[in-house]
Amino acid sequence: HAKTAGRGQFAVFGKEMDTMLQQRRTLERELREALSSDTQIQVYYQPLYSARNAKITGVEALLRWRHPQHGWIAPDVFIPIAEDAGMIEALGERVLRQACLDSMSWPIETVAVNVSVVELRNPAYAMKVAKILLSIGMDPTRLELEVTESALTDSAGHCEHNIKALRALGITIALDDFGTGFSSLGRLQQLAVDRIKIDRCFVQGFGRSTNDEAIVRAIIDLAHAKGLRTTAEGVETTEQSDYLRGIGCDDLQGFLLSRPAPVKDIERLLRGSASHSAISTTG
Ligand code: C2E
Ligand code: MG
Ligand code: MG
Ligand code: MG
Repeated sequence: HAKTAGRGQFAVFGKEMDTMLQQRRTLERELREALSSDTQIQVYYQPLYSARNAKITGVEALLRWRHPQHGWIAPDVFIPIAEDAGMIEALGERVLRQACLDSMSWPIETVAVNVSVVELRNPAYAMKVAKILLSIGMDPTRLELEVTESALTDSAGHCEHNIKALRALGITIALDDFGTGFSSLGRLQQLAVDRIKIDRCFVQGFGRSTNDEAIVRAIIDLAHAKGLRTTAEGVETTEQSDYLRGIGCDDLQGFLLSRPAPVKDIERLLRGSASHSAISTTG
């Protein structure tokens, strides 16, 4: 019986695979359509707050796709599709341009844009960014690009070359989701980046795991010894924000402080940022 059951399961699995592949192809086609529409793809912004004085130091641009039938689709779903289907370069260019234009007059230090390792593998990427900034009239020191650890371990060397060229232009580089990839704490010493963004899984382990507190403390101390700035991602409670401020984390980002929001809301927030922050600076 085991054999028949096995074959039966395989048939079901095959059918499911088929449906999944079909759904994926449909989504891919719809994403292509979305890219040429003006309304489906939007850029939201999530502020980063100085842990020291609760001021907004920067914002991170986050892509949003509002599908005409299915509503919001998460970037964790459509970014990999865009990467596989050769659409990430167009999408990346779109978010970069939009983020620079939107934030041009905002009273912040930097606007951060996420970059896919697929974009960074293109040897012409740094030049493409330089041209975009020039065409917009954007000061490169106001732009931060967020890369993941996979970009720093890419064997072909194009990513590394691009990162060097981007930094030479004055653009800062942040290492996103730090701690989830392959890098050891030891490798942090050699990384050619300006900022470390500590992954939210460590922040959310506070109070439950003394291990996570020790790891975050070590990351921050090492980063500071190397002159790197630190951001904690996914700050959801005042306990987390208090602890992070206490151990000298530079910037905080998370739902406690502000969710990603459209331009209109961010501009309202920036106008009243000093008085409306959720971080207490007195405690
Ligand atoms: P990421 O760059 O690490 O962005 C942070 C993610 O954490 C965002 O999810 C944000 O909404 C979420 N987040 C922020 N604060 C909190 C919090 O307190 N709690 C929790 N649970 N989550 C929080 P989002 O917007 O869904 O983006 C997911 C990922 O998609 C991003 O992770 C990034 O890797 C990718 N992504 C988004 N926009 C772009 C883009 O323009 N280009 C590329 N290449 N990737 C992007
Ligand atoms: Mg990011
Ligand atoms: Mg992140
Ligand atoms: Mg992430």
